[in-house]
Amino acid sequence: MVTFEAMQFKDIIGHQEVKNHLIDSVKNNRVSHAQLFLGEEGSGNLPLAIAYAQYISCENKTDHDSCGSCPSCIKFGKLIHPDLHFVFPVAATKAVPKNPVSARFGNEWRELVLDKKGYITLAHLQEKLETENKQLLIPKDESVEILKTLSLKTYESEYKIMIIWFPEKFNNTSANKLLKIIEEPPAKTLFILVAHDAEQIIATILSRTQLVKVGRIGEEVLQQELMQRFGLDEQLAHHAAHLSDGNFIKAKKILERNEVEESFHDLFVDWMRSAFKADVPGLIDWTENMARTSFGREKQKQFLKYSLHLFRECLIQNYAQDNLNRMAENEAQFLQKFAPYIHGANCMESIELFNDAIYHIERNANPKVLFLDVSLKLTKLLRVPVPQG
Ligand SMILES: [Zn+2]
Repeated sequence: MVTFEAMQFKDIIGHQEVKNHLIDSVKNNRVSHAQLFLGEEGSGNLPLAIAYAQYISCENKTDHDSCGSCPSCIKFGKLIHPDLHFVFPVAATKAVPKNPVSARFGNEWRELVLDKKGYITLAHLQEKLETENKQLLIPKDESVEILKTLSLKTYESEYKIMIIWFPEKFNNTSANKLLKIIEEPPAKTLFILVAHDAEQIIATILSRTQLVKVGRIGEEVLQQELMQRFGLDEQLAHHAAHLSDGNFIKAKKILERNEVEESFHDLFVDWMRSAFKADVPGLIDWTENMARTSFGREKQKQFLKYSLHLFRECLIQNYAQDNLNRMAENEAQFLQKFAPYIHGANCMESIELFNDAIYHIERNANPKVLFLDVSLKLTKLLRVPVPQG
């Protein structure tokens, strides 16, 4: 079920200059009939295109944004306005095994775009359409569909608006069929092409559109947004904004990874405490938890890799006097105390133990047996005395 979700200018991160430019074009009646919004994935080029279309069609717009509540805006909020059309790359799927075109995937598209508030990637779409890694393309059948759609009268708005996402994926024949209509569209028709890499767009299309450069989201703007949207503290928000290079999708991924590592950290601490105390019932409990089916094989493997990584960090800490600057604070605190127990007399065997475990988990070893075995071996290894001298 698609719920009401507005996609207005105010919901889009940063890009104030682009927003002003777009709003001015409407105010001054200089809306170009074919525009190319160029920006990387994660920049907000698609949400901007949708907000612009909504603004143009709004019956009650202000100087800054669409109203969000007129009949047109409400339909835009669900992406079901009859004069709003989307074209995007597709592939054959189980549900649509032959002649796939965008119109066959309207529901999946709307759900995805609304769910991600327009911040989507090709990989997201591939997953949503269940195309099983098939290349997504805008096939030649699509040009026929586009011409058909544009031959219809507008239903409710002054403009008919067609948003073409990823024109880089146009099949050549398809693109050539569209050149004329992009150059001289029917009256009150608007093309917004949302692209990511100008070099991959067929040159004849590029030359027929007006360029709107979307660029990257400013680091500071993104940081503020992450703090507000996800309630992050300044340090973490800064970290994610900085590493993602003004890419909102990347920033979210960084934060997700961070969350996973935090849960891994707690698990790791429990594990090492029980192993160190040789608390066998505790280790059995821990193993049961680890082997729970909900904690799938892939995550079990990631956890083992994480543990291996921490053991290596302990060694570095012991022998290189590294100050653990690269770690999160809670990790550094724990490792400070734990590191002395990893030393020359047990480090090679420990590392081998984790590597073996990763090897076996990849080859479908029973996780209960495997984790208990590793736990018991660790119990012994952690009690190996520190070599003297
Ligand atoms: Zn409105």
